[in-house]
Amino acid sequence: MYCNFINGEWLAGLDASTNINPSDTRDVIGHYARASQSQARMAFAAASHALPIWSGRGPQQRSDALDVIGSEILARLDELADLLAREEGKALADARGEVLRAGQIFKFFAGECLRQPGEVMASTRPGMTVEVTREPIGVVSVITPWNFPLAIPAWKIAPALAYGNTVVFKPAELVTGCAWALAEIIARAGLPNGAFNLVMGSSREIGSVLLEDPRLSAITFTGSEGTGRKVAQAAVGRSGGMARFQLEMGGKNPLVVLDDADLDVAVACALDGAYHATGQRCTASSRLIVTDNMHDRFVAAMLDRLPELKVGDARSPGTRIGPVVDAEQLAQDVAYIHQGIAEGAQLVYGGQAMPEVEGRPGHYLQPALFVGATSSMRICQEEIFGPVAAVIRVADAEEALAVANDTPFGLSAGVCTTSLKWAAMFKRELQAGMVMVNAPTAGVDPHAPFGGRKSSSYGPREQGRYAAEFFTQVKTSYIKP
Ligand code: ADP
Repeated sequence: MYCNFINGEWLAGLDASTNINPSDTRDVIGHYARASQSQARMAFAAASHALPIWSGRGPQQRSDALDVIGSEILARLDELADLLAREEGKALADARGEVLRAGQIFKFFAGECLRQPGEVMASTRPGMTVEVTREPIGVVSVITPWNFPLAIPAWKIAPALAYGNTVVFKPAELVTGCAWALAEIIARAGLPNGAFNLVMGSSREIGSVLLEDPRLSAITFTGSEGTGRKVAQAAVGRSGGMARFQLEMGGKNPLVVLDDADLDVAVACALDGAYHATGQRCTASSRLIVTDNMHDRFVAAMLDRLPELKVGDARSPGTRIGPVVDAEQLAQDVAYIHQGIAEGAQLVYGGQAMPEVEGRPGHYLQPALFVGATSSMRICQEEIFGPVAAVIRVADAEEALAVANDTPFGLSAGVCTTSLKWAAMFKRELQAGMVMVNAPTAGVDPHAPFGGRKSSSYGPREQGRYAAEFFTQVKTSYIKP
């Protein structure tokens, strides 16, 4: 059994969960300890005790530790990508990209440890100097989803540690194998006991501790909108004082294809954005908004290329689309496909669940393409989180923009055009945290700020040096000699 890591020790839990390979449900990945509430509290006690030790170590030692972690992730790229593909179901090429990114993120923040500038200001008062510096925020609760089981933990844990905070990490139960592998690497990087803790388990058992322990100062969360609201309520409603919180939630990302787009570029963006990683990305393009004169050519080219997206075991050579993560998510995807048909959209490709591929029982789903969708349909308003995309036909660029902005979400948005005028207009007017011109809505750089607007996100951006906004607190000092 794989244990939790609390105060520098590996501890068995209340019981264990069993992780299954979604590409072959006969394959058991492992048994992972589920922490009790008292163990989760122990983790916060340990993190609180370790805070002055870790933050007091100074930037060079913190940098060295993060560098060691990043180097090991990169050195074990093949093995970790195999585990990720086996556990989460993303095709091996996508899994390799994710492991690479996790390693790069630790390397980036190893550098950032040594780049923490402050500011000196002139004072309005004679003889006074004003100094602005950043300090750690404290103990950070890191709560992550299953869809990027290494990259999302990396982009939360690396900056938390870089800026001198300590961490209690609770991964999603579906992907504890990847979480445990990452924790095992961090455990050997020379951090003081308690600076990093792994608590696996069900949110019903330990969720409230992760949100409410009086020793935590901040909660960084990625997951569903519903849970995000619970995080926000718990963070502001705590009896011991409010906690800072950062939420990354859903998306319903549009890819706009204008009449003047390069058709090959647009189709490549749509196939990647909608279907790669089985569409299980909060930045996936699930709405393909296409202007009148481009529409038929675009749909014909999509139908031509869709058969290239071979569905199969995430680790088989030639597989482009791995399985859906589990039976529950597959049922949700299929229910949305039925919903789309019932609402009057036409399913022109895929959409069939396949109980097995090449003799392997798994949660497989043929990528689905709808045409004739309208913006008000539920399939165009709600996050499906699967390989399902809908084409919405619009008259012109102005209507495309209005439809693109017509959801409660605002994470990522794309436009395919060869016109500078339209590119500039969409870049300015799209209500999204990230705008992609002639590029897929999903797929971002590890050092650039990541986050959304409207119901997609709350709080400061993640990743890159913008992460300092969440993981540090500002101190303003007035000094008179
Ligand atoms: P997803 O649909 O991606 O699974 P969830 O919001 O259900 O999104 O889960 C994201 C993360 O939040 C997971 O680690 C999950 O265990 C955790 N989580 C879910 N509910 C709670 C809760 N009430 N308190 C704390 N963590 C929670």
